[in-house]
Amino acid sequence: MTKESPLKINAHRLWSDLMELSRFGGESQRGVERLALSEADLAARRWFQKRMEEAGLKVKEDAAANLIGRLEPKDISSSIPCVAFGSHIDTVLAGGKFDGALGICAGLEVMRVMQESGVRLSNPLELLIFTDEEGSHYAGTFGSRAMLGMVKEEELEKARKAGQPTLAQDLRRLGKDPGQIKQAQRQPTEFKAFLELHIEQGPVLEAKNIPIGIVEGIADLHRYLIKVKGQAGHAGTTPMALRDDALVKAAEIIIRVHQAVQGGGADVVGTIGEIQVYPGAINIIPAEVIMSLDLRSSRKDKLEAVCQTIKEIVSSLKNSTLEPILVKEGVPMDKQIKEIIAESCRQEGIAFCYLWSGAGHDAMTFPLVHIPTGMIFIPCKEGKSHCPEEEVSPAHAFLGTQVLAETVRRLAS
Ligand SMILES: [Zn+2]
Repeated sequence: MTKESPLKINAHRLWSDLMELSRFGGESQRGVERLALSEADLAARRWFQKRMEEAGLKVKEDAAANLIGRLEPKDISSSIPCVAFGSHIDTVLAGGKFDGALGICAGLEVMRVMQESGVRLSNPLELLIFTDEEGSHYAGTFGSRAMLGMVKEEELEKARKAGQPTLAQDLRRLGKDPGQIKQAQRQPTEFKAFLELHIEQGPVLEAKNIPIGIVEGIADLHRYLIKVKGQAGHAGTTPMALRDDALVKAAEIIIRVHQAVQGGGADVVGTIGEIQVYPGAINIIPAEVIMSLDLRSSRKDKLEAVCQTIKEIVSSLKNSTLEPILVKEGVPMDKQIKEIIAESCRQEGIAFCYLWSGAGHDAMTFPLVHIPTGMIFIPCKEGKSHCPEEEVSPAHAFLGTQVLAETVRRLAS
């Protein structure tokens, strides 16, 4: 018989924190909208900081506005590396209640039960609440990248859309000096491990009826712009046979790219999600089309093969080009930590499986500086996320938090 965990997660307390947090930015019909450093986000942070302090944590905010709640066992040196866990507090436009929120509320509950159970810890614990994971200012995973020294000052001055505040402007509004962003940086040796509990944001766990997913790693991501040129002309006077319509060629590319990705096997996904047509008028034959292409896979070889096929498709059409804009290498999670998560599940008698994450997370930042990292997923209803319909069951939130707590205990004792 395996021994039961001494940690008793309070399911009611966890769920009521999640529901209370969802009220910040959740007044409208548009789900939860808590863009990083917006008024709703700042109010949520103030509330969460108070909750952390009530839970006995020493809380500070760093130069990147990350919140850090630390629990330091009395009889150990503060220089011992900490076991850290957490997620982000911001959401996308018209987002849901659980993306990010689950990881931070679960982390708070873990901090409480560690103290209530009186387990002996050999490492300090840190609950990390990251700023702007969703990239509403410019690029995603801002807070975790700043914490590990991967943000350059120039990035803070960039805005994703003209007219929106930059991170530098918003940090100044909080009384911070963006020029001091490096002060948020910490040494990898300060961390023994990092863990993130998150909703799956896909349909796999629900379809398998399995409550816990142990993340193998975060998939490779390639992004491109597909540009197709044609010849503008009068929509009324140019005979069909004489047209070079950029949008018609683009339509063919969209269908063939979709087929190429499908042909690449179940491990590859690809999306053309943005399309701009120039000059974009009802009475002008389209002269140019610019489309985005987002390709992801846990299998480098399959992704490369699909990329090659798409290059051939695009180059076979007159005046069409494929321009790479981003290549993000996939990040594997730590083998030993995956095993500790699995052991924690076995101890609790909770079913689990292994899966890859097609989405990026703060947990992908830590392995880049060789901090052992693990991720735990729970199912979300119909795989829906980044939308108001995002839903998880209280039972799954409880199980995920129990596994997180037990994994933290094993790593920190
Ligand atoms: Zn998230």
